[in-house]
Order: sequence, then structure tokens, then C-alpha cells
Amino acid sequence: MRLSEFVLPTLKETPAEAQIVSHQLMLRAGMIRQESVGIYSWLPLGLRVMKNVEAIIREEQNLAGAQEILMPTIQSADLWRESGRYDDYGKEMLRIEDRHGRDLLYGPTNEEMVTAILRDYIKSYRELPVNLYHIQWKFRDEVRPRFGVMRGREFLMKDAYSFDLDLEGAKKSYDNMFATYLRTFTRMGLKAVPVRADPGAIGGDMSHEFHILTGTGESAIFYDVIYDELTLDVDNPDVEALQSIYAVEEKLHDPVSCPVAGDRLKQARGIEVGHIFYFGTKYSKAMGLVVDGPEGERIIVEMGSYGIGVSRLPAAIIEASHDKNGIIWPDSVAPFAVGLVNLKVADKACVSQCEDIYNRLREAGIDVLYDDRDERPGAKFADMDLIGLPWQLVVGPRELAVDRLELKRRDGGAREELSLESVLAKLTG
Ligand code: ATP
Ligand code: MG
Repeated sequence: MRLSEFVLPTLKETPAEAQIVSHQLMLRAGMIRQESVGIYSWLPLGLRVMKNVEAIIREEQNLAGAQEILMPTIQSADLWRESGRYDDYGKEMLRIEDRHGRDLLYGPTNEEMVTAILRDYIKSYRELPVNLYHIQWKFRDEVRPRFGVMRGREFLMKDAYSFDLDLEGAKKSYDNMFATYLRTFTRMGLKAVPVRADPGAIGGDMSHEFHILTGTGESAIFYDVIYDELTLDVDNPDVEALQSIYAVEEKLHDPVSCPVAGDRLKQARGIEVGHIFYFGTKYSKAMGLVVDGPEGERIIVEMGSYGIGVSRLPAAIIEASHDKNGIIWPDSVAPFAVGLVNLKVADKACVSQCEDIYNRLREAGIDVLYDDRDERPGAKFADMDLIGLPWQLVVGPRELAVDRLELKRRDGGAREELSLESVLAKLTG
């Protein structure tokens, strides 16, 4: 992509309305635009990141055996009356009336709908277990939308739902998602701490939230310092062992009965990027999701649900990875792999060299953003650092003279002088 043609409305100044660094940088890097309170458009750079985040989540869900579906954003109120949540959910739910006077709502979550789907199609114990997920917009009329896409009103969520015959099966499904979440966040360059949580409005018996520790996080958590010392084996995590480490959200922390000694207990702030629940037969019982067992007996299906904040994650990643000059994207979610900077667009030789490199990079399958604009070098470097691409490849008359290109790693700032062949090898290797 040529920067001269790319819609990238970067800002030099920090917008006054943004309180935390991820919100400031997302606005300054031209990733998002506020349309109403808590409702955002995703501009080209931002959407590329969110699509990469989504792709990692999708790959890991599929690997875990979950199947992708797509349920609508608009749901019928009658469905929610079946579970009793239509009245319970309160003002966070956006209620809508259609032209025929029927009550609809913009879904804040999908337990009811997915339960109704299974109820129609699954009749026998032989058809379970099943896990269905979708990646779809949600609306919650939050009391205090803030921090940009971190706490929006309309936001993108991955929500999966497991269906099992018994508690043992349900725990297996739960642990499978627990392990999948650890891998998913690690692939995004994040270290997520799983903490025991209060199931809240979803209801249920067992629940973990996954938190990214940063000072700007909205949640307070308490955890055993073991977590900081541990290197996660995400390919083969010992789920039982991890779940037995003391880590809880503030609400569940009781200083009197806390098993961790004072000097080993850490208090931190976290961003909740994922939340998993086991809630047994809460919805299947209320809505009649029952299957025939091997002896003809009727089995009420055991359920769990598993959420990830897809549109919150780009912000969470920035909170965890930035410096005073801007964003530092982990390779796995970066909007482009490399920025190619032409320092002298008035110089014909420099332009033709850049065009050549641009084509070679693209032929090698490397995602490149080519800064071909007529701007001062300082402005170009500042924009590149701000948008945080993992690599910067700089071409000017000096580089041409020595037939070497300067490759800079955004994270840490190390520079190397390399031939184009070596650059290609490095970026594809
Ligand atoms: P929170 O405690 O942050 O309000 P929640 O517990 O209400 O979140 P869940 O129902 O657990 O949210 O939703 C699953 C995931 O969706 C959360 O872990 C979070 O990452 C994301 N999420 C929830 N609410 C929002 C929001 N208002 N804006 C962006 N992402 C959100
Ligand atoms: Mg939650």
C-alpha cells in the first residue's frame, strides 16, 4: 500500500478527550473515529489490526474444535422472556420496537439464541458435545463508556458456547477453552493472567477472567507472585495447576482467608480481555434444551460460555506495548509488516530504487506500507514510529550510494545495514 493513497489521518497533538495512552495513540495513529459516545468507526489502519486479532482468535477456536456460526445482532424480546433475562438485564440493554410494535433488542450476549438453536436441532446424546462460536457486534448501554474502544457501547466480541451431557464433559470443555485462551493471548504478544471471577449477570458456578496487567486497567485483582515467575507452556499448559494458583478479582478477595502470605500477594490493575463461564443448566432448564440419553432418559444439557473482547484487544495491546514515540505492534497483529520510507521523493534514482524494493517486497508476500509522500524526513520518521510497524526500511541517497538499506526494528530501535536480499530473507524468515 502506498501511503500517498492510504487513508491515515495521523495527529501530531494528543486529543484532549483521551485519558489513557491507548485511546490517545489510536486517535493519533488514525485507527478509529468516534461516531457517538462509545460508538466508533474503524479506519483502515485500525481495522487491519482488529482483523489480525480476529484471525488469531478464529484459528485458535477452530483448533479447539469450536465451530463458527453467525447469529444476528438484533434479537427478539420473546427469546429473552423465556430465560427471564428480558426484565433482569436492565438499562444496559438497548430495546427496540419494530413497525409492527414487536419488541426487539440489540444483543448484549447470545446465550438465549444459541440455546434455542441447539434446542431445534439436537435431539440425542450422540450429537454432543458441541461448541459453537461467533464473532459479532454487541451493544451494551454502559453507564460509563470511556477510554475509546476499551469500554465502548457497541463492541465486537467472540462468544463461544459449549454443550455437554454431564459435569465432567462440561469441565473438559471449560478447561479446553481455558488453555485456548492462554494460547490466543500469547500469540498476540500478551501475558494474560487468569483470575477467578464472579459470574455476574451470566450466572453460574465457575468463572475465570483473563487480565492484561497495566496501571490503566479498570479492574483490581489480587494474585500470587508465582504468576510473575512462571513461564507459560502454552502448547501444553497444566490447566489444573494454573487454576490452583491464587488469583482473584477484588470482589472475591478476602484478606482474612487469603492463603497467600503478605509478601507473596500482589495487587494489580488489569484489563479484562476474556471471560469464561460454566453455568450448568441455567438456560437449558429454563428454555427446555433436553436430549435423549442412552436409556431413553431425558438429559438437561450442561452449558458454558466463553467471551473475548475483540475490539478491546487492539487497545489492550497498545497499553502493553508502546513508548513515548508511539505504538509498538507485535508482529502477529501489526497492520503492515514493514514501512518503506523514501527519504527523497525529488530524487529520481531514489524513487526508482524505492519502487523496485516496494515491488520485490510485495512479490515476496510481505505486507508493506510505502511512504512515497512528499514530506520532510522528520515527519516521515515520526509517523512511522507513531503507527508502530515492526520494521522500518529507510532509503535515501546515502543508502543508494553504499548499496545498503537501513532496517530498523521498532521495538528497541536496533538498526542494521543490509542488502535487499538479506532484508527479504529476514522479513520472510
Ligand atoms: P467488563 O467487566 O469489562 O464490563 P463484562 O464482564 O461485562 O466486562 P463479559 O460479558 O464478560 O463482559 O464479555 C466478554 C468480554 O467482552 C469481556 O471480557 C471484555 O473483554 C469484552 N467487553 C465487555 N464489555 C465491553 C465493552 N463495553 N467494550 C469493549 N469490550 C467489552
Ligand atoms: Mg466479564
